[in-house]
Amino acid sequence: MSQFFRRLIASIFLLGITLPLLAAEPVRIGVLAFRPKPQTLAQWQPLAGVLQRAMPERNFVVEALDYPELEAAITRGELDFVLTNPGHYVLLAHRNGLSAPLATLISKDSGQPLSDFGGVVFSLAQRADIRTLTDLRGKTLATIGTSSLGGYQMQAYELTRKSVRLPQDARILTTGMPHDQVVAAVLAGRADAGFVRSGVLENMASEGKLDLNRLKILNRQDKPDFPLQVSTRLYPEWPFASLPNTDKDLARRVAAALFVLEKDAAVTRAMAIHGFTVPADYSPVEELLRELRQPPFEAAPAFTLQDVSARYQWQIFAGVIAGGLIVLLAIRLVLVNRRLAAARTRDHLLVSALEAVGNGVVITDTSAKIEWANTAFEPLTGYKPEEALGLRASELVKSGQQDQPFYAAMWSTILRGEVWRGEVVNRRKDGSLYDEELTIAPVKDESGTILHFVGIKHDITERKKTEERILHLAQYDVLTDLPNRALLNDRLQQAIAAARRDGTGLALMLIDLDKFKPINDTLGHDVGDLLLKEVARRLRGCVRESDTVARIGGDEFVVLLRTVAHVPDAKAVAEKIRNTLNQPFELAGHRLSISSSTGIALYPEHGSSEVELSKNADIAMYHAKENGRDNVQAFQPEMLDGRDAA
Ligand code: GH3
Ligand code: MG
Repeated sequence: MSQFFRRLIASIFLLGITLPLLAAEPVRIGVLAFRPKPQTLAQWQPLAGVLQRAMPERNFVVEALDYPELEAAITRGELDFVLTNPGHYVLLAHRNGLSAPLATLISKDSGQPLSDFGGVVFSLAQRADIRTLTDLRGKTLATIGTSSLGGYQMQAYELTRKSVRLPQDARILTTGMPHDQVVAAVLAGRADAGFVRSGVLENMASEGKLDLNRLKILNRQDKPDFPLQVSTRLYPEWPFASLPNTDKDLARRVAAALFVLEKDAAVTRAMAIHGFTVPADYSPVEELLRELRQPPFEAAPAFTLQDVSARYQWQIFAGVIAGGLIVLLAIRLVLVNRRLAAARTRDHLLVSALEAVGNGVVITDTSAKIEWANTAFEPLTGYKPEEALGLRASELVKSGQQDQPFYAAMWSTILRGEVWRGEVVNRRKDGSLYDEELTIAPVKDESGTILHFVGIKHDITERKKTEERILHLAQYDVLTDLPNRALLNDRLQQAIAAARRDGTGLALMLIDLDKFKPINDTLGHDVGDLLLKEVARRLRGCVRESDTVARIGGDEFVVLLRTVAHVPDAKAVAEKIRNTLNQPFELAGHRLSISSSTGIALYPEHGSSEVELSKNADIAMYHAKENGRDNVQAFQPEMLDGRDAA
C-alpha cells in the first residue's frame, strides 16, 4: 500500500516539474530566407518579440531557413508556423498538409501598404519591335530565376495565355538576385526584355538608380486600387500559416497578434512591412503553378483520377460525349464502308453477269440515250460500247423496217412501266441487216419513277433463217421449189374467197405427165428428176406472176389461174402448156419428148369449194388420159356419170 502511494506521489511530483518544462517548449516560426540568412533573421526577429509580449508564457523563436531547410523542418514537425512566399506555400500545403493561412502579409513596397503584388514585363522604351507580349517570342528575357513567382512565373503564365510558352519560345537569361540585375541586363542590351516583381522599378527610381522614361511596360494593367506598374494579374502577398499539429488556441492568439501589428509603428518599420491582414485566396497561385507545371504540379501523373474528374468534370463530360460521338461515327463509317464494299462487290458481280450473258445488254436513260453497254453489244451491232455512249439506241441501229406505229406502241408500253418484248430488224454499223429479239424493261425507283431502261438484245438472224427454211420446206416441193399441195390449198382457198368477193372466176388445171414412169425406168430416177424440174420451169414460164404453179405429187402439177371466167380461156392456157411440154427436152445428153394430160375445173362453174374443184379437175384429167393422153379436158358434169358408172 505504502509502496503504491510512494509511486503515486513520485508520479505527481514528476508531472509537476514536467508541465512547466512543456510550457517552456519554444514556439518556432520558420521564415523563408531567399536573401542571406542573417539579413532575413534581422528583418523578422522583431516578430518574435511582438508575439512574446502578447503571450509572455510562451517562448517564440524565428528561424531563417532556405527552401530545403524549411521543407525538412516541416517534415520533421519542428515548426509551428511558417512565413513563406505564396508559391512555396502552395507547394507546402500540397506536400505537407499546411493549414489555410492565418494571415496575409501587407508589404510596404515603395512606401505603400499592399497585400497583393504582380509581375512586370518591360523593355527599353525605344524598342519599336516590342509592343505586346507576343512580340517576346524568340527574344532574350532576363529574370532573377525561373522559380521566382513575381520575377518569372507570373509573367510566364501571362505569356502562356497569349500562346507564348516559356522557356521554349524565348531565350531565358537568369541574373540571380537582386531584381536590380534584371533591369541592368535590359539597360545594357544583354536582354530584350526583363521580368521583375511589382515595385522594383519604382523603388530603383526613388533611389535614383533608374530613369523610368528609359523603359516601357508591356501589357500594362489598369488597376485603380494598385498604385504600382504591373503587367500581370495580382496575386496575394506572403501567407503566414500554422502547421496541422499546432495548437488551435495558440494559432488563434498568434493571428490576433498579427492583425494588430500595424499599430506598432516601430516594429513594422523595423521589419519593413505594413502588417498582416485577413488571409487572401491563394487559389490563383495554385492555378498558375498548375498551368506552368511548376512544383507540386510538375508532373501530370501527380493528379489522381479523382482530381481530374473533380476539376474538369464538365470538360470530361463533354469529352466523353464527343468521344462517344466519334466512336459512333467511326462505327457508322465502318458499316457504311462495309456496305459500300458489299455494293461494289455486288456491282462487280452484276457487271460480270451482264457481260457473261452473251446477249447484248444496254442501259439507257429515260430518253433512250445509252449510258452503258456490255461487250456483246459490239458483235451484235458493230459498235463498241464506248462509241455508243450518249447516242440514242433506237436511232443507232434503225433499219427503217419498222414503221412509226410500231415504235409508238413500244414507247407507250415502256413509259407505262411495263416490259416490252418484240422482234425488230436492225442495221449494223456496216449497213447489214439483222433480226433481233428485243426486251426493254423500265428500271424504277421506290416511288415508281422510271430512271433507266434496260434493253436485252438477242440476235435471232439464224433462228429466223431456220424458221423460214422449215416454213419453206413445209410449203414448197424440194425438187422443183414449186408450192406443194398444202400451199396450193391455201392459195386456192384465198383465190376462191377473193373470186367470191369480187364476183370473178378462176381455173384450176391438173397436169399429169404421160408415160413418165418408163423414163425413170429406162434413163434412171435422176434423169426423171431433171425432167420434172424442167417441166416446172416451163410451166412457170407459161403463166403470170400472180398465178400459181404447184407440184402436188410424182408427175402431177397444178396451175391455178386467177380471173379466168370461161372454159375456152382456160383451155387456151392449157393448150399453150401442153404444146410447151411437147417440145423436146435436152437433159444429161438425152433428147426426150413427152406429152401431158390436163383436166380443168372452173370456179364457180364446176365447183364452189377447193375440194370440189380439185376433185373435178382430177376427173377431167382422167378423162384426158382415157382420151388417148396428150390432150386437155374441161370438166363436164357428165364426166361424173361415167365415173360413177365405172
Ligand atoms: P400415165 O401416163 O398413166 O400417167 O403413166 P405414168 O408412167 O406417168 O405413171 P404415173 O403417172 O401413174 O406415175 C408417175 C410416176 O412418176 C411414178 C413414179 O415412179 C414416178 N415418180 C414419182 N415421183 C417421182 C420423182 O420425184 N422423181 C422421179 N424421177 N420419178 C417420180
Ligand atoms: Mg403420169
